[in-house]
Amino acid sequence: MGDSLSLVSDEARACTKCPLAETRTNAVPGEGPPDAAVVIIGEGPGRNEDAQGRPFVGAAGKQLDGLLAYAGLDRKDVYITNIVKCRPPENRRPTVSEADACRPYLERQLELLRPKVVVLLGDSALKRFLPDETLVSSHGRLFKQAGFEIFPTYHPAAMIYNRALESVTREDFKALGRHLSSVRPKT
Ligand code: URA
Ligand code: SF4
Repeated sequence: MGDSLSLVSDEARACTKCPLAETRTNAVPGEGPPDAAVVIIGEGPGRNEDAQGRPFVGAAGKQLDGLLAYAGLDRKDVYITNIVKCRPPENRRPTVSEADACRPYLERQLELLRPKVVVLLGDSALKRFLPDETLVSSHGRLFKQAGFEIFPTYHPAAMIYNRALESVTREDFKALGRHLSSVRPKT
């Protein structure tokens, strides 16, 4: 039988491949329609996500919903996931070995979804795909990789602590929206 998004999710929920399995409540594999043209990749689940098993349901999720609207996108139309599927204690950044252990799940998700655009939220996601780039120089730009386009921008949680990033990130999402309507004209 072939691979499927629900199989990836089931495996991630039962996964013990890295130490984050010991402290999580629920793994957060990701969610969204299988035909999503856009995949959003954050860093890792926070407290609310860990409690509910769903991505971006807390304060950062509210920010994300607002940003998606600037791109003309609705949460129900995009696939949302993270670099690591289990919450790092105290919301610390995932380690390289945790991200490496978790990587096959993300790779299988991307292989199954084959999105047009992958939006990277924040530095953890950026470094997995474009290790030599910084957010300052790459945010809001399109990169080609492995058959899809990659669009790095700031993490919505960063906006909560640094209001100056809010307008920059909003402009990035507006630019994303313009790009999406140029590759996918509305009929
Ligand atoms: N921050 C993330 O990076 N991912 C989530 O799912 C929630 C908050
Ligand atoms: Fe498995 Fe990823 Fe969770 Fe680690 S973070 S236990 S690799 S699903």
